[in-house]
Amino acid sequence: MDRKRILIIGAGHVGFYVAADLGRKLRKEIRRGAVEVVVVDPNQHMTYQPFLPEAAAGHISPRHGVISLRRSLKHCTILAGRVTRIDHADRTVTVQPITGPARKVEYDEIVVAPGSVSRTLPIPGLAENGIGFKTMGEAIYLRNHVLARLDIAASTTDEEVRRRALSFVFVGGGFAGIEALAELEDMVRDTLRYYPELEMEQTRWVLVEASQRILPEVGPDMGVYTVRQLLKRGLDIRLNTLLKSCVDGHVVLSDGTEFESDTIVWTAGVKPNPMLRESDLPTGPKGHVVCVPTLQVATEDGTVVPGAWAAGDGAQVPDLTNPGGYCSPSAQHAVRQAHRLSKNLVAVLRGGQPVEYRHKYAGSVASLGLHKGVAHVYNIKLKGILAWFLHRTYHLSRVPGFGRKTRVVADWTLALLTKREIVQLGELQEPHGPFAEASTGEV
Ligand SMILES: Cc1cc2nc3c(=O)[nH]c(=O)nc-3n(C[C@H](O)[C@H](O)[C@H](O)COP(=O)(O)OP(=O)(O)OC[C@H]3O[C@@H](n4cnc5c(N)ncnc54)[C@H](O)[C@@H]3O)c2cc1C
Repeated sequence: MDRKRILIIGAGHVGFYVAADLGRKLRKEIRRGAVEVVVVDPNQHMTYQPFLPEAAAGHISPRHGVISLRRSLKHCTILAGRVTRIDHADRTVTVQPITGPARKVEYDEIVVAPGSVSRTLPIPGLAENGIGFKTMGEAIYLRNHVLARLDIAASTTDEEVRRRALSFVFVGGGFAGIEALAELEDMVRDTLRYYPELEMEQTRWVLVEASQRILPEVGPDMGVYTVRQLLKRGLDIRLNTLLKSCVDGHVVLSDGTEFESDTIVWTAGVKPNPMLRESDLPTGPKGHVVCVPTLQVATEDGTVVPGAWAAGDGAQVPDLTNPGGYCSPSAQHAVRQAHRLSKNLVAVLRGGQPVEYRHKYAGSVASLGLHKGVAHVYNIKLKGILAWFLHRTYHLSRVPGFGRKTRVVADWTLALLTKREIVQLGELQEPHGPFAEASTGEV
C-alpha cells in the first residue's frame, strides 16, 4: 500500500493543532496505515506561550503551561529534532536529531510551522547580557534570576551591587514585554514582604519602547490606561527610547540615561524562524513563507506550490479583513489558521477545494499582575479585575486538553487559597556546582 506522509515542522500553536485535527479527520486512514503524520520539533511539548508570564510569576507550574506531544498526539510519529533544510523539489527535509548525524525525511505533504524567534538588533552587550521571553525555559530562568536578585540585594553591604541587582530592564512594549514586566514586578512586590531588609522603592523597573505607545494589541485608549497604571505602580516607562548598549550590564539608553543592571529582558518583537531561509519554498521580504489565503504556499504571483502549507508566525498570510495587509503574529490567528489549514489539507487530499482563511482580529487581553489587567475585545474595553478575569478565562478556554485545564485551575485555586510561591530554584540552572566542588575537595 502507498502510504502518504504528512510532515509537520514545529509543534507550536499551529503544528500542534494541525496534528491534533488531522488525527481526528484522518483517523481511519491513519489506523489503516494509509496516512502517517510526522511531527518534528526539538521539544517534546507544545508551549502555550500566553501562559509564560503567569509561569514566571509563579501562578502556574511550568509543567502545566506545556502539553506533552507524545501523550496528546498518540496517532502521530514524533521526531525530536530540528529541521535544518527543506528541499520541496525532492519532498525531503533534513532533520538534525537531538544528537547524532542529520537525517533526511521524505514526505508527500508538508506543513511549515516553525514560528518565530526574537527579533534582536546588533546592540553591544545584548547577546551576552540579554534574555528573551519566548520559551518556558526563559520564563523560569527569569523567575529564578529575579528572585535571586532579591537575595543578592538583601545580603550585600555594597550599595552599588544592591542597586544593580534591583534594576530590571525590559525592552519592547508589546504583550509579551508588558505582561512579563507587570507580572514580575507584582511578584517582587509580594515577595518583598518577606525581606525586611529591602523596600519596593529600592527596586527600579524600566520599560524601554522605541515607539510612542505600548500594547498596540489593545488599542490606543487601553494602551494609555496601561501606561498610567504602570506609572502609578512606580515603573519607569520610557517611550520613544532605544537601548543603545548594555556591555557588562552597563545600560545606556538613547535619552542619555545610564545605569547598571543584571536583568535585561528583550521582548522587542519577533521575526520568522531563520530556518526558513534554508528552503526552496518562496519567502517574502521579511523571511516569511509566502501563502495564499487558503494557507497553501505560493509564489509571489499567487501560483500554488503543490503539497506545501504554512501558517502562524513564520507565514505571510494575507489578511482578507484588511486588504493589502497580513495576519499579525498571534496565537489568535495561529490557532484559527491551524484549524482552517487542517480542513483544507484534508479536503485537497480527498479531491475537494480549499477555503480561504478569514478572521478579523478580535482584540486582546493582557494581564498586568494578580487581579490587574486590560482588554479590548470586539470593541468592548475592560480594565482592572474584570479584564484580568477575562484574560484568565479566555486562556483557560484556549489551552489544549481537559487535563491541562484542570491542572491550571488547580494552580490558580491553590495560589488564591494559600500564598504565592516565592522560592527561587536557581540551583536548577547549575546543578553540577556542589558535586564538582565536593569532588575537587574545595568544600
Ligand atoms: C510571552 C508571550 C505571550 C503571548 N501572548 C499572546 C496572547 O495573549 N495572545 C495571542 O494571540 N498571542 C500571544 N502570543 C503570541 C503567540 O504565542 C504566537 O503568535 C504563536 O505561538 C505563534 O504560533 P506558531 O505555531 O507560529 O509558533 P510557535 O507557537 O512559537 O511554535 C513554533 C514551534 O516550532 C518549533 N520549531 C522551531 N524551530 C524548529 C525547527 N527548525 N524544526 C522543527 N521545529 C521547530 C518550536 O520548538 C515550536 O514548538 C504570545 C507570545 C509570547 C512569547
